[in-house]
Amino acid sequence: MSKVECQCCRKRMVPKVITSAPIYISGVPLGGGDPESSVCPFCLSPKWMLTERQTLAAGRANAEFYGIMVLALVNIVAFVRLGELGGGIVLAVTVAAFFLRSRIISALQQRLRH
Ligand SMILES: [Zn+2]
Repeated sequence: MSKVECQCCRKRMVPKVITSAPIYISGVPLGGGDPESSVCPFCLSPKWMLTERQTLAAGRANAEFYGIMVLALVNIVAFVRLGELGGGIVLAVTVAAFFLRSRIISALQQRLRH
């Protein structure tokens, strides 16, 4: 295997392949040994092949997905608790927040930076 640069610690390394553990039945190993993932041997990061920008993009996608899930839950609870009128208001706020999310996120990031 040729050496590659780890995107986390910037060291030249050969990715260490992690294999799944076998199941032992009466001391006899069964299965296992399949490569599951690879990590950098220096910083043990599985994200050695990701650039910083890709990691950030993945993190942002996760945050966005999490936000949408929370908003969906809030809406369901609002409809159950508040009925159609209250649920409708919360839904309108949610839709507005969804469309303004990039502005809200950048505003939050600026606030965190200062
Ligand atoms: Zn590394």
